[in-house]
Amino acid sequence: MTLLDIDGLKTYYGADDGWVRATDDASLSIERGETVGLVGESGSGKTTLAKSIIRLLPDNAEIVDGSIEFDGTEITELSNKELRRQIRWSEISMIPQNAMNGFDPVYTVGEQIVEVIRHHEDNTSKAEARERGRELFDDLGIDPDRIDDYPHQFSGGMAQRAMIALALALSPSLVLADEPTTALDVVIQDRILETIKEMQEELNSAMIMITHDMSVVSETCDRIAVVYGGRIVELADAETIITNPRHPYTLGLRNAFPDISDDDQELISIPGSPPELVDPGEGCRFAPRCPFAEEECWEVTPQPESYGDGHQVECHRADEIEHLQAEAGKKETWREQDIGEPEPVGTADEQAVEAEVELDD
Ligand code: ATP
Ligand code: MG
Repeated sequence: MTLLDIDGLKTYYGADDGWVRATDDASLSIERGETVGLVGESGSGKTTLAKSIIRLLPDNAEIVDGSIEFDGTEITELSNKELRRQIRWSEISMIPQNAMNGFDPVYTVGEQIVEVIRHHEDNTSKAEARERGRELFDDLGIDPDRIDDYPHQFSGGMAQRAMIALALALSPSLVLADEPTTALDVVIQDRILETIKEMQEELNSAMIMITHDMSVVSETCDRIAVVYGGRIVELADAETIITNPRHPYTLGLRNAFPDISDDDQELISIPGSPPELVDPGEGCRFAPRCPFAEEECWEVTPQPESYGDGHQVECHRADEIEHLQAEAGKKETWREQDIGEPEPVGTADEQAVEAEVELDD
């Protein structure tokens, strides 16, 4: 059963030089209990999409178009009061990217957990709420007695785990986990991910798991949405994204992450950097970095095309998958000098005349 249905969402930030189109026409639906990963480079719009769902956007952000339907309720139309009362923490919770910012420095972590629980559960006593907080701390590997500490007394990793405790305390139907293990060292990362998954399964919560790390999403997610330049450029089940992606950006991302089953793998990075999101214009936003871009890619924004079993791709060349996959695995394909806007079309003579005209000017 569909829990969340995002349709044509556009969330823009007001900046001095115009609107930053951080989420630009995103559509995604999530089933109850399902885990969907959002992957993509820094600045691609992952956090903006998640914050739009729980409406925790900064003041200069605006949802300019689209809808977010959560369990039959249109989130974009709720007042802040309604969001606080009906949705946040109890139905949708968020583990923010920078966990320390999620806590108020003035109160102890325990006081904040108790406050959130009691705000939504009139019949739970302070002692019961505190006990639930202590149990969650224990599950997440934090000494329960630290519940009386202030946030600044926590290390980054402990704050992250305490935030996970808070996010799960009210058994929400949807957890937005924004890089939930980035602040943790590698040894503990796996354990925390496992704990989150276990708790999620127990609660039958759905989850959006945001990460840069392809291996994390491939292990924890049912489906993966690949985000680039504010758009969902590819969406499919995790297995398809890992083994049979159709978007050149996904192919590039896959090259850049180590595959533990392949000792000889050579990591290949994608040259260039993500696009400017103020007035990005028409055309595929990945074209300037794409080794397979053709004239159409620079001129026409690709729309999502379906490739069966919920596999959606925004790429003009997604049909030529076998050729693209083979080429994308080669290091020379991703050499910077081979990528970029195509030469102007025309005969050499015509181009020479154009060049002369420019010189005469
Ligand atoms: P990261 O992996 O670094 O967390 P992200 O994918 O979460 O990146 P977002 O934080 O959603 O990306 O940012 C998307 C775009 O919106 C970026 O271009 C960013 O610079 C811009 N942006 C984010 N917050 C603001 C803001 N408050 N005002 C203006 N622009 C913003
Ligand atoms: Mg982010």
